[in-house]
Amino acid sequence: MASGEKETVIVWFRQDLRLSDNPALHYAHQTGANIVPVFILDDDNAQEWKRGGASRVWLHHALKSLSASLSNNLVVKSGSPEDILKNLAQTHKATTIFWNRCYEPWRIKRDTHLKTALEETGINTKRYNGCLLWEPWAIKKKDGTPYKVFTPFYKKGCLNAEQPRAPLPAPNDINFANNLSGHNVEALNLLPEKTWATDVIQHWDISEAGAKKRLYDFLSDGLHNYKEGRNHPSQNNVSRLSPYLHFGMISPNECWYAALEKGSIENWEKDRDHFLSELGWREFSYHLLFHFPHITWDNLNPKFNNFPWSDEPSDELKRWQKGLTGYPIVDAGMRELWQTGYMHNRVRMIVGSFLVKNMMTHWHQGEQWFWDTLFDADLANNSASWQWIAGCGADAAPYFRIFNPILQSQKFDPDGEYIKKYVPELKDLDAKHIHAPWDAPPLILAEAGITLGKEYPEPMMDHSKARDRALEAFQTTKT
Ligand SMILES: Cc1cc2nc3c(=O)[nH]c(=O)nc-3n(C[C@H](O)[C@H](O)[C@H](O)COP(=O)(O)OP(=O)(O)OC[C@H]3O[C@@H](n4cnc5c(N)ncnc54)[C@H](O)[C@@H]3O)c2cc1C
Repeated sequence: MASGEKETVIVWFRQDLRLSDNPALHYAHQTGANIVPVFILDDDNAQEWKRGGASRVWLHHALKSLSASLSNNLVVKSGSPEDILKNLAQTHKATTIFWNRCYEPWRIKRDTHLKTALEETGINTKRYNGCLLWEPWAIKKKDGTPYKVFTPFYKKGCLNAEQPRAPLPAPNDINFANNLSGHNVEALNLLPEKTWATDVIQHWDISEAGAKKRLYDFLSDGLHNYKEGRNHPSQNNVSRLSPYLHFGMISPNECWYAALEKGSIENWEKDRDHFLSELGWREFSYHLLFHFPHITWDNLNPKFNNFPWSDEPSDELKRWQKGLTGYPIVDAGMRELWQTGYMHNRVRMIVGSFLVKNMMTHWHQGEQWFWDTLFDADLANNSASWQWIAGCGADAAPYFRIFNPILQSQKFDPDGEYIKKYVPELKDLDAKHIHAPWDAPPLILAEAGITLGKEYPEPMMDHSKARDRALEAFQTTKT
């Protein structure tokens, strides 16, 4: 529905694949101009951080859904944003490009250059915060330096700063520019030729409506007892909003204000505040990535630079990836990841500690596997979390605090419910033995139909020996 003389502007969708609370779209719409909505797949600038396999699958479905919400007007391109945007601006005589900021180091570099290049050709750019509650540069210590410890970052920094923006409404009756072309999401070739991709998405409704439903279902069924329940992978106390937040199919602002309201009405302050603080951890990861962009690959704490981690692919690594370590809670987590594109946070910590401490494998290997297999693979959260679990990051778990996968399993999955869901070979093993099947008497194993090494693997290593080895290696960080 466009008319000839009206001004035209471009809205460049990036990690904000939504109509609600999308500042770039909102302010573009407010100009009253005709809109060219565009998404550009930019693997060349992303280089080693181009999206992994699972993210590409999610992106495919997210774009299909966004395009449908835009009455199939989304222009979908692959290639150099500079060339594509200049071309689109020329074709549609667009004067201004609206976008929401991204904070990955490669995107900051690209966008800084792009802004100048576009403005030199007379195209204005308007940029907004659509992805974070607080801009990473807005939260600083009194001396002007960035925080490296979460609690003061969140409590002194964020909670004392300006309130996050209240969510903006989705625009209705968008006027699209005439003669838009190139709407074929399939042309991006984001889907692999594997049935895995069809199986794994069945666990999700990859749409903006699906994101909202998940938020409101969580607020009704999961927020109460979140603080404690979030540690138990078989309980329904986490939101599973992370992929939607990563792709911007829902804004953190909407999650923040909805949780604030629900938690306050119901007097669930403790759970409400804990959930808000987890959104705060997401802010903290972005803050770290912005101020210390090398954390994607280099240890934030250089004392770990000589740590004797193995950084090569190995059979042990393959067993970890496939969920065949012989440690049931680790295997359940790795299989949850493969089957659903998601893993519960408690289990991410257990499998992460197992990789970097029990297996003495570099966190890079874990980071890369997660990058390829998580639907919520996020450069800020993934890098900061792997560094945290490896002990070399900001505010990291001290290296000597080594998660015991058996005790963690007994404590957080006492009946083995989560294990049985993802490691069905162990479904007939009782709660006492399911956490360490190698300690079960042969009769019990036989009754459960298990021969170790046959139906289910022998444990990959002895935890206490692995622990001693890791602690010895930790001495290298003290020199
Ligand atoms: C080794 C490791 C790797 C990780 N990699 C990623 C990643 O690539 N992408 C990612 O989004 N998260 C990552 N996390 C953080 C965390 O595990 C997930 O954000 C969380 O499990 C998502 O589930 P949820 O949406 O149900 O969380 P909820 O408990 O419902 O929390 C709500 C939101 O808060 C944020 N959040 C929660 N916990 C954390 C946390 N510890 N750090 C940062 N943000 C948090 C997420 O955006 C999440 O969606 C990683 C954690 C570990 C230990």
